[in-house]
Amino acid sequence: MKTIVIIGGGIAGIEAAARLNKPDVKVYLIEQDAKIGGHLAQWDRLFPLQEKAEKVLDELIEKIETSDNYVEVLTNTNVQHIEKIGSKYEVTLTGNKTIEADAIVFTTGFDTFKASRKEEYGYGIYDNVFTSVDLEEMFRKKNVVCKNGKKPERIALIHCVGSRDEKVNNRYCSKVCCVTAVKQAMELKELYPEAEVYNFYMDLRMFDKHFENMYHEAQSVYGVQFVRGRLSEAAETKDGKIQIKAEDTLLGKPLKLTVDMLVLMVGMEPSQAGTVIAKKTNLNIGSDRFFDPLNEYDKKNLTHFEGIFLAGACTGPKTIPDTLADARAAAVEVMEYLTI
Ligand code: SF4
Repeated sequence: MKTIVIIGGGIAGIEAAARLNKPDVKVYLIEQDAKIGGHLAQWDRLFPLQEKAEKVLDELIEKIETSDNYVEVLTNTNVQHIEKIGSKYEVTLTGNKTIEADAIVFTTGFDTFKASRKEEYGYGIYDNVFTSVDLEEMFRKKNVVCKNGKKPERIALIHCVGSRDEKVNNRYCSKVCCVTAVKQAMELKELYPEAEVYNFYMDLRMFDKHFENMYHEAQSVYGVQFVRGRLSEAAETKDGKIQIKAEDTLLGKPLKLTVDMLVLMVGMEPSQAGTVIAKKTNLNIGSDRFFDPLNEYDKKNLTHFEGIFLAGACTGPKTIPDTLADARAAAVEVMEYLTI
């Protein structure tokens, strides 16, 4: 019997566990929160085809809920310590429970950027400034309204909040927020066809299948407006609206706009909890603070410790399909390593 510990119960952890769900293998999936599912559980519909996130997540979880019990999910559990003993790793969990593991997979994922760090955008200060995560929750609850309960008539979505920004020490692109902004802008127009919806972007990074089509459809079918420019500041007006100042970098002109809702497209940052345990384990951390794999090509799931593997957004921002593919790749590496 081989024992594998997977640290992080988001979609990478679930998919890796599903792929390692075999006879003669015991998989422990460790999750610090009360439920597995990670960020996907917060989402309503997914780009590019508008599937319900809940359905996608349920189907993933079903794969590990088999009657044979090869996968054991431990929620509300943290990893305190990892120590190599011979060819195995002793993993100490909350409450001093220990597991002797033959292999460990880090799937600690990401945290969303804390928008309040960009004080000039007013998140947590002004009522009608939201994040893309808040907006998803409103979509899920079917309650997309301003703080005073009124329907928004003008909405601005701001790209690259907490990404590609040296001031917050995040120079990387978070990869998914351009397409999320386009998706959310289209959903806002579906709800409120009369509303004006603006996307303020630096560059549009619509790299994947269907994404470019979404961008064109957002303009030609939904009437979403795209402005190339970065927001400099936001301020609240007397009537609770948000006045934003930006520069339209295509026209080379400053621009002021008053909106009912301002939505900040928050990027990804390495998971703080994951970083703590990675540092204790002496895993390599890159200058962007995401985990560094053994190399960026054919060893992306390996670390410089034999028997410790990486999968998902702990090595950098990823879409859902990329995260799942990466988890499957890590599972193959584990199977090869353990010859299972
Ligand atoms: Fe900015 Fe788009 Fe990259 Fe997100 S995906 S960081 S919004 S360029």
